[in-house]
Amino acid sequence: MTQDPQQLPRYSGIATFMRCPYQPQLDNVEIGLIGVPFDGGVTNRTGTRHGPREIRNQSSLMRSVNQSTGIDPFALCKVADVGDALPESPFELEKSHRSIEAFFNDIVSAGILPISAGGDHSISLPILRALAKDGPVALVHFDAHCDTGGHYLGSKFHHGSPFRVAAEEGLIDPKKTIQIGIRGSVNHKDIWKFSHDSGMRVIYMDEFYKLGVEGILAEVHKLVGDTPAYVTFDVDGLDPAFAVGTGTPEVGGFTTFEALQMIRGLSGLHIIGGDVVEVSPPFDPSGATALVGATMMYELLCVAAESLTQRKRRGD
Ligand code: MN
Ligand code: MN
Repeated sequence: MTQDPQQLPRYSGIATFMRCPYQPQLDNVEIGLIGVPFDGGVTNRTGTRHGPREIRNQSSLMRSVNQSTGIDPFALCKVADVGDALPESPFELEKSHRSIEAFFNDIVSAGILPISAGGDHSISLPILRALAKDGPVALVHFDAHCDTGGHYLGSKFHHGSPFRVAAEEGLIDPKKTIQIGIRGSVNHKDIWKFSHDSGMRVIYMDEFYKLGVEGILAEVHKLVGDTPAYVTFDVDGLDPAFAVGTGTPEVGGFTTFEALQMIRGLSGLHIIGGDVVEVSPPFDPSGATALVGATMMYELLCVAAESLTQRKRRGD
């Protein structure tokens, strides 16, 4: 029988991301698929610590070639499941973030481009701390929420604030940050004041349908240009009709197909990593939201593999 894991029956074997080889030793890996099973930063319904396991399971439904773009990420790059960034003290949030950052520091030192599955959205902060050591990066952010809130219940670190802290720490350039899909009721009219005051481009759902996917992508490319960019995909950006298994669902979101079109349209950006967060298996009895998470991760992998290949060809 074939030894190519992508060609084996998809119901067989041990669940790894996209059926990639499990290589926690980090040798000879160009793109690392990483689980971050941590939900100590949620403000309401928990459960995303179970996200990576279920996304690994559902990701066995992914095949090799992206039928829309023709990209086969596994042919372009050495892709492996490099395991979990598991916090040593999961009951201590800031210490957990330091553990996650240490894991990603090793990923960066090994020259690996990370594509991660959360976990709650607070995990993007320690990932950015590891990735943006040489200066602020651009951010393409899909979400129902801007996640630039302030202190909440006595803490500035939670899943509603990672991109405020990231901007304050100089990890992301607010003027090269675009937040897509924002909506829902709020307790304070100016809850996302930080996004607006710092110059982030915020696309609320009303504007989403005025601009359309093509208009939004034109803005992304104009704003980000060739600046190294991180892509973060909160599944609650999608309408709960497509992704109900998440802690903070908001109706009136974009569709899975619009999400696929937007991620594919990131082609041409200098992508340095990405994540899919907020899949919460306890609220996802059918596994459909984990399948959505796995699919978005696959699409991110495709554009990241293309971007990395173009950089290798240019010799950067
Ligand atoms: Mn979020
Ligand atoms: Mn959200």
